[in-house]
Amino acid sequence: MNGDRVLLEIIEHLPGNVYWKDIKGRYKGCNDNFPKSINLESSRDVIGKTDYELLDQKTADSVTEIDKRVMETGEEYTAEEIHANAKTGRIVIYLSKKTPLRNKRGNIIGLVGSSFDITQRKKQEFQLAEAKQKAEDANQAKTVVLSSISHDMLTPLTTIDAATSLIDMRAESTPEIRTCFEAMYKSIEMLRTMINRVIESARIQTGGLNIQKEDICLPTIIKDAIDQVEFEKLLTNKPITINHYYEANEYFYTDKECIIHILLNLIGNAAKFTDEGEINIIVKGDEERLKIIVQDTGIGIPEDFRERIFEPFERVLRSDRSKYKGYGLGLPTVKKYVEALGGEILLSSIVGEGSTFEVNIRA
Ligand code: ADP
Repeated sequence: MNGDRVLLEIIEHLPGNVYWKDIKGRYKGCNDNFPKSINLESSRDVIGKTDYELLDQKTADSVTEIDKRVMETGEEYTAEEIHANAKTGRIVIYLSKKTPLRNKRGNIIGLVGSSFDITQRKKQEFQLAEAKQKAEDANQAKTVVLSSISHDMLTPLTTIDAATSLIDMRAESTPEIRTCFEAMYKSIEMLRTMINRVIESARIQTGGLNIQKEDICLPTIIKDAIDQVEFEKLLTNKPITINHYYEANEYFYTDKECIIHILLNLIGNAAKFTDEGEINIIVKGDEERLKIIVQDTGIGIPEDFRERIFEPFERVLRSDRSKYKGYGLGLPTVKKYVEALGGEILLSSIVGEGSTFEVNIRA
């Protein structure tokens, strides 16, 4: 077999449609698939003809116009094209590419084109985008309903709180009665915290974040966050040491509310999911960038759970829920705050050894 024959043989068996035309738009050759794509038997039905003899007038007009442009400008053309099959009426989407053909002197003498049927792929992309949109819409609707229910719950809770205080003032002060009132106050406070977290999370999830940057004093904010977590940790009596390494400028230009929430959530989670060992908070950066790393020696996060924990209401396995309380709203909120600051949050973890969350933001 000589070289040309081998080349033709290869082209004949290429996937998709391959064809080449002369400067007048007449087909000079094609592979086996091309005639079949326009309901013809073989390349003999195509060669020597123009698109006006093979396709309907409208399609031929648009194909000819593109061909002319490619041959006049010498520029390659790549596009996704939608065609209706003349016989079956089936809509087909092609990824089409046309390149000018030149002779030895470099003059354009025609073009070579190829097109691949990407209908199935496009359909899948569309279905995926549609499913994603539906899920996002459903999530948004759920968030709005939750938020309005939570707002409605605050009013009766305030009434219960006020009524409890009133009854408390008039009640006998025996140890049993005091214990009852303490339990009631604690329950009211827990409910209020939960409701406020749902409202805050809904506000952030639905885009209600107002970023206001200013120069903030990082060591103070970090110390306050650690103090708050240390205080909460005292209540649980766990043997955990919180260490703090600071290698950044004292001031950083960012949103204070965001940073406080990010720190409280990450350090709070580290303390919650660590039964013993250490929590290391490492802050690095300069005027432009800030890196906050929160490392713990806690229970760790399984790999298949690592992406999901940034979605609202995703929390520890059901079996661990009585041990580790929470609402699954902390990390989604942290992610929104980090994104609002144009940053990213990274996570690495080894189950049983610990987790490391790394937040990178820019001023
Ligand atoms: P919550 O802490 O209220 O459950 P979050 O959204 O803050 O909600 O966290 C979601 C889940 O991610 C947690 O329930 C837990 O399973 C996992 N998680 C978060 N931080 C840690 C951590 N430092 N160590 C282990 N698991 C963690």
